[in-house]
Amino acid sequence: MSEHNQDKHKARQQKVKEQVDAKIEQAQEEKGILQVITGNGKGKSTSGFGTVARCVGHGMNAAVVQFIKGMWECGERNLLERAGVPFAVMKTGFTWETQNRETDTKAAQATWQQAKQWLQDDSIDLVLLDELTYMVSYDYLDLDDVITALENRPAMQSVIITGRGAHRRLTELADTVSEMRNVKHAFEAGIKAQKGFDF
Ligand code: ATP
Ligand code: MG
Repeated sequence: MSEHNQDKHKARQQKVKEQVDAKIEQAQEEKGILQVITGNGKGKSTSGFGTVARCVGHGMNAAVVQFIKGMWECGERNLLERAGVPFAVMKTGFTWETQNRETDTKAAQATWQQAKQWLQDDSIDLVLLDELTYMVSYDYLDLDDVITALENRPAMQSVIITGRGAHRRLTELADTVSEMRNVKHAFEAGIKAQKGFDF
């Protein structure tokens, strides 16, 4: 880099630093965050669990609600339960294939009752509501009820909702919304879901 370019780079970085510092200065509010992680690409649940690990790593309390029980055992659950994280998993063995509306609705609602208790418990710093979006899309849960519970949760409690096709009212209510975009996925090339990577 020529001296001239170095000076230019330095000046530009100084400006970036000033802008970032100003934004940090402005962000003074302390409150629990509601995050929605949606979209068709891979990485929604792993992102949610990553934040749970982050929370627990600080000695804080997290709880996990899984609205869709995968076909495989869940690696994160094996680890996090050992670290004292409570899990509520929808019992009927609901998977992507089940078609029984009545039993699915009952199971979703029973699981939601547990979620609601955690959403009222200010000793829990983070609640992961994994795959909740589908329960709303399928009408297994009442959206108003979900919104009310989210709005009335403890002020410092953070919540993460994952799943495709998040309802507009959930993304509007959220403070942070990320959309995973599918660029490509190994499964499309015929590669099986891999233990320790996909589950
Ligand atoms: P992950 O749990 O790996 O973070 P996800 O939560 O974003 O994935 P889901 O829609 O919950 O994705 O799907 C769960 C399973 O489907 C995972 O095993 C994941 O690898 C797989 N999967 C995710 N996205 C895709 C995709 N675009 N095509 C095919 N399979 C996918
Ligand atoms: Mg997922």
